[in-house]
Amino acid sequence: MSRNIYTRRILLRITLIVLLVSFITSCASSTGRLTKNKTFTFVQLCDPQLGMGGYEHDVNSFKQAVKQINDLQPDFVLICGDLVHKPDEKSFADFNKINAGFTVPCYCAPGNHDVGSEHTLQYYRKAVDKDYYSFEHKGYAFVVVNTQLWKAPFEGESEKQDKWLKTTLETISKKKQPVFIVGHHPLFLKNPTEDEKYFNLPLETRKELLNLFEKHNVVAVLGGHTHKLIINDYKGIQFVNAETTSKNFDKRPMGFRVWNISTKRPFEHTFVPLENFDVPEYESEQGKLKVSCRREPNQ
Ligand SMILES: [Zn+2]
Repeated sequence: MSRNIYTRRILLRITLIVLLVSFITSCASSTGRLTKNKTFTFVQLCDPQLGMGGYEHDVNSFKQAVKQINDLQPDFVLICGDLVHKPDEKSFADFNKINAGFTVPCYCAPGNHDVGSEHTLQYYRKAVDKDYYSFEHKGYAFVVVNTQLWKAPFEGESEKQDKWLKTTLETISKKKQPVFIVGHHPLFLKNPTEDEKYFNLPLETRKELLNLFEKHNVVAVLGGHTHKLIINDYKGIQFVNAETTSKNFDKRPMGFRVWNISTKRPFEHTFVPLENFDVPEYESEQGKLKVSCRREPNQ
């Protein structure tokens, strides 16, 4: 009898040990899943362009965007160019002051209004920051570019950026990281082979860039410049030029996009209109929406 109890105790201990080991293993794998979880959000904000839709208006709308974005607390913000309408001391000072109000990191790309000439390019580098650079976030690479150097090349400067871009993408490829390109001009508006216009990039440059992006695991190309929402897909690469906070030509409300990055492709991005800015009605894919502070479903 006592031998029987002894055997039972041994069996009970073994069972407990097995349960404990399986519990520890399950915790470890769940922690592993968490550390591997790449889910995060960031904001795409386009053309604050202080002075485009009326100086005071643009200052206030950009301030409102900062406030709403701080409330949302994304991992970071990307500003897709045309920070100001006229690149003078006051505009950049006002931009920097409002931009400093973000409580999350903010990364800016320059637009044609910021760096339209060699003189303003040098000024931008002093007054704002670098015009092209890259950073990493949770296993993704973000490559910020100066698209004005492709739209209207500056001798010396354009070649330097091209060389830097190729080297940067090659280095990222070795790490097998998906890449977001963040700039200002869209490569194309409707069709990758369309002629060059004011809003898109020269055809030859565009072809070279598309090949380069395809080769180096670029997953999305973000920009502004069009002052209207343009969404395209090229061989699985998402191209999004989004709503501004200064003036939209397509009657959409002013606002910004929140991107949700997960394993789900294509990546989801949701429009968030600015609150307290009068926009009567606009057409969405879901029909007419009255806007005050409503969020539009995903595009
Ligand atoms: Zn522009």
